[in-house]
Amino acid sequence: MSHKLKVGELKEQYMTDEEIWRVFTVVLSSKSVKSSTYKYVLMKSIIENLYQINDQYELTYNQLAYSFAKIYWNLVVHHNLVKQNRGPKNARAVTVIQEFQQKHAIPSEFSFDKIQETLQLKLVSFMKSVMKENVFGALYGDTRGQFYAFDHKLEVFRLHPVVHQFMLRYQRLLVNLVNYHMAVMIEELNENMNINFLLNKVESIAKRGSLKRFETILLSHFENKCFYCGKRLSERMGNIHVDHFIPWSFVQSDQIWNLVLACRTCNLSKSDKVPQRPFLDIIIDRNEQLYHMPTESTVLMENYKDKKVILLYDYSIENGFDTLWAPR
Ligand SMILES: [Zn+2]
Repeated sequence: MSHKLKVGELKEQYMTDEEIWRVFTVVLSSKSVKSSTYKYVLMKSIIENLYQINDQYELTYNQLAYSFAKIYWNLVVHHNLVKQNRGPKNARAVTVIQEFQQKHAIPSEFSFDKIQETLQLKLVSFMKSVMKENVFGALYGDTRGQFYAFDHKLEVFRLHPVVHQFMLRYQRLLVNLVNYHMAVMIEELNENMNINFLLNKVESIAKRGSLKRFETILLSHFENKCFYCGKRLSERMGNIHVDHFIPWSFVQSDQIWNLVLACRTCNLSKSDKVPQRPFLDIIIDRNEQLYHMPTESTVLMENYKDKKVILLYDYSIENGFDTLWAPR
């Protein structure tokens, strides 16, 4: 059985967009056996980490398990969608989360972000075992070994470079496809669900509750000014906004190199639009400074390259974010 594999090697031949689409279609459609929502959550986790990938196109199991744990926590505990597989028994990921919540007496209202950091890491490590046992090998089989390689011992996941580029280019479409198919399956498994309501939940499960941590780091390194209009930010509650330079609805992840401090007016008027080109140069300069600062931000900037943000900028426009914004 493919999901018992401990190592999966990558068949590294070139693939055309058409061939990659064909594999994605099979994975997402009823042609592939879906006994649980694992594949969707793994795909969402990969998408969330697309910009964290290193020069060898690798992600660590920890990076992926962090996203995986967050998504399942929010689904199972926060939204109470406990049926995540077919058959009488609960999906292993669900059981692990429920036992964890009980053992540490974590209130159900808590989203993943609210859980204490040491506990978060403990849960991430449990989820990593679940992924090794049930997840990496299963999707590997469905993608016929053409999308990624994995190694349980080294705890490394390596994406095919061509597939990585494909996922960046069609990210918005892929997110929508994965969300839709995942919502359909969750609805089928959990009775009395309404799909519109569910799509909203599925769209936001990977979203962070608070960007406070990034606000603190940015404030400690830079002048207390709006990135866009230059206005001084008052310390009053609710006046300092952390803005995703490239909108969250496109990147689906929170990287410090894509976050800026903004005033309320700019943040609200920008909404989910992409800023005009000159701001791209400004954020690249800002990131260059951040990259060389010897603090917590060094870790957060580990896999940063200015070409990533340029690529992301161009892809977001290609993906329909083409109304470019500037402050009034
Ligand atoms: Zn402003």
